[in-house]
Amino acid sequence: MLKLQNVNLFYGEIQALWDLSFEIKEGQIAALLGANAAGKSSAINAISGIEKISSGEITLFDKEIHKMSPHEIVEEGIIQVPEGRKLFNYMPIQENLELGAYSKRAKKDFKKNLRFVYDLFPILEERKSQMAGDLSGGQQQMVAIARGLMANPKLLIIDELSLGLAPILVQQLIKDLINIRNTGITILLVEQNVQQSLAIASDAYVLENGRLALSGNATELINDPHLKKAYLGM
Ligand code: ATP
Repeated sequence: MLKLQNVNLFYGEIQALWDLSFEIKEGQIAALLGANAAGKSSAINAISGIEKISSGEITLFDKEIHKMSPHEIVEEGIIQVPEGRKLFNYMPIQENLELGAYSKRAKKDFKKNLRFVYDLFPILEERKSQMAGDLSGGQQQMVAIARGLMANPKLLIIDELSLGLAPILVQQLIKDLINIRNTGITILLVEQNVQQSLAIASDAYVLENGRLALSGNATELINDPHLKKAYLGM
């Protein structure tokens, strides 16, 4: 559904992405992996239109999106759940969720989507009037994902799901992602945590120094000698 072809991205004279090409298939959980400064944020910011690419092409269902504004890309159905969650801590949970539904495509399904996210995360409905800042880290990540779902995504990009969370909470959130994927929403997980991501992803793409270093089926990649050595300490 989403295709990057020979994407190059610069910050001034610094090149952050080099001839990057990969494709995400509809209905999958895919993973974009790499260490600090590998270029993951640059790649997803290029997809979301936050950073403009200098050459190459990004298409969603064969429609060019790389010249569109971030707002137009949201209307196409690509939604980012940002690293660090970026909630409004002094606003109630439900108001944080409502903020996810500002686009035209989201407004028409507001009630249906609110029901969907509360069924997915019942704790958020129980606490809907509480301030988002009063929740635990795991619950705040649920709000961030739920806010993304309120935008009615075709592709949900989740940046650093596991950052700062205990492994048991990450396990629970991963189950939630599988439930979301089962409703037909495609997910791109952007992670430094290689092992956890490969456990749920179908396909994975590993970036190194802004270039695609490895890609393929996650079950095959987990046995790749370079990946084992560089990311799994084996
Ligand atoms: P992290 O997980 O630390 O965010 P990342 O894989 O997302 O890492 P990027 O943030 O995309 O990596 O960074 C890729 C390269 O681009 C790095 O060398 C970084 O220093 C550089 N870079 C990123 N943003 C900018 C910017 N706004 N101006 C200049 N250089 C930047």
